[in-house]
Formats: sequence, C-alpha cells, structure tokens
Amino acid sequence: MKRWLMRVGMLLVVLGTVVGMERVAAAAVPADWTTQLTPFKISGNLYYVGSRDLAAYLVVTPKGNILINANLETSPAQIRQSVEQLGFKWTDTKILLSSQSHYDHAAGAAEVLSTTGAQHMVMDGDVDVIKSGGVADYDTSMDHFPPARVDHVLHDGEKVSLGGTVITAVKTPGHTRGCTTWTMQTHEGGRTLNVVIVGGWSWNPKVHLVTAHGRTESYPGIERDFERTFAVYRALPCDVFLGAHGVYFDLLGKLKRMPTEGTAVWIDPEGYKKAEAAKEAEFYKEVAKEKAS
Ligand SMILES: [Zn+2]
Repeated sequence: MKRWLMRVGMLLVVLGTVVGMERVAAAAVPADWTTQLTPFKISGNLYYVGSRDLAAYLVVTPKGNILINANLETSPAQIRQSVEQLGFKWTDTKILLSSQSHYDHAAGAAEVLSTTGAQHMVMDGDVDVIKSGGVADYDTSMDHFPPARVDHVLHDGEKVSLGGTVITAVKTPGHTRGCTTWTMQTHEGGRTLNVVIVGGWSWNPKVHLVTAHGRTESYPGIERDFERTFAVYRALPCDVFLGAHGVYFDLLGKLKRMPTEGTAVWIDPEGYKKAEAAKEAEFYKEVAKEKAS
C-alpha cells in the first residue's frame, strides 16, 4: 500500500514537473513568434511564409522551391499552410536553408526535411549545432531542439542554385558560428533588386564578446568574427532589406503600409544602412563596456 502510494506520489511529481516545464517553455516564446501572418509576395519570386516575427521565405523556381528557415518545432505546419495558401506545393520544397542554428530558426528543420524530402544545406560552423539539436552550441543557455541531418555543408560565398535562381550564402558569424546572410537578386517592374536577408547581428545576454575581468570570451575569436561580420554587412549592396526576425527590418510597420504602397515597401536601402550602423555601434559599445568593467 505504502509503495503504491509512493508511486502515485512520484507520478504526480513527474507530471507536475512536465506541466510546469511546458508552461515555462510556452511563456518564454513571444506570441509574435507563433502568430501566423497571411503569406505575401515580397519581390519577384520571393515570398514571405513566416509568422509575425519569425521570418520564413519561399523562393519559387520552375525546378522547385527553396525554403529559408523552418523556425520553431510548431512552425512547419503553419509554414506549410502559408505555402499552400499561395498556391504552391509543400512537396515542391527541394532545398532547406537556415539563417542560424538557434531553436527559433532551426527546430522545425527535421520535420520540414521528413515531410518534403528537401536537401538540407547548412553553413560550416553551424553544422555540429544543427546535427546535435543545439547541444554543440557555444551559447549553452540556448534551448535544445530535434536534431536534423545535413546533406550539404556550405562555405562562405557558396552559391545555391535552383531553376535559374541563385542565392549566395554569406557567412556572417558571431551570433552563431555559422550564421548565414542570404543574398539574391529579384526582378520586379523592369528593375533588378539586391535582396539581403540578414542572418543575425546581435549577441544573446549570456554571451561574452571579450576575455576580461575573469570572464572568458564565449568562443575563441568571437570579437574578431563580429568585427568582420559588420564589415561584410556594410559592404553588401541592399535594396530589399529582410532578416531572420521581423524586428530586424520593421516587418509589421512595413506590412501596414503595403495595402496602399504595394511591395515597394520592402525596398529600403536607407533602412538597411541605418539598422546596420546602429547594431555596429551597439557592438563596439558593448565591447568597450566588457573591457572596462
Ligand atoms: Zn538566434
């Protein structure tokens, strides 16, 4: 009897912990990450299929489509719905790419791969993190996620080609070691536009950019990586400014203007320059602060 009661008690403790953890996890995810947006065309053959903040992009070609970002574990169903709402086939997704190897952009990768049969191409530096489901991340405060297989390892500057569209993988390390900024050109209204999908240019709260005052840099060379990354961002030609998170490029603000101004709202070279300069200044301020205190 006693043993039976103990077992029930233990079961309740375990259940309580699981329910509690779920509550914590759900509370930790901002509503904008999981609230779906009506999908829309951005420019040329490039479409938005993400949520109010977790961006996902579909590049449509005659030989099949490329999906950039699988996002949270719960996101693939929403992304699929968006793709189908636009009139495209989920199983036409031939290649999956990612902005970064954090759970908010890559946790859905395993499911996207298994339901589409797409090839998974990942930048060197992010491969181990993707394959280990976040265990190999230098930032140990990040959530783990379902590991995903990697079919092809990309290197800086490598071109991903499908059906006449070419997307360039620009390595912008720092936020993750293989953080990737995707660039491509679209053709719209007789113009050729340079698209930049910023992979990530911030550092999470637990990250140390330098070794100083008893703290150790989060990975060897992280400060140099960020310096180089900002130099790369400064040099990129950008007409259509996009990113891994909607907040990078004021997705919601621009979306409000789209009914009257059309897809031209996504053309924002000045906004890109301003956002880049602000992030870069913030980085050097943070480095100075870490060195001083
Ligand atoms: Zn991240």
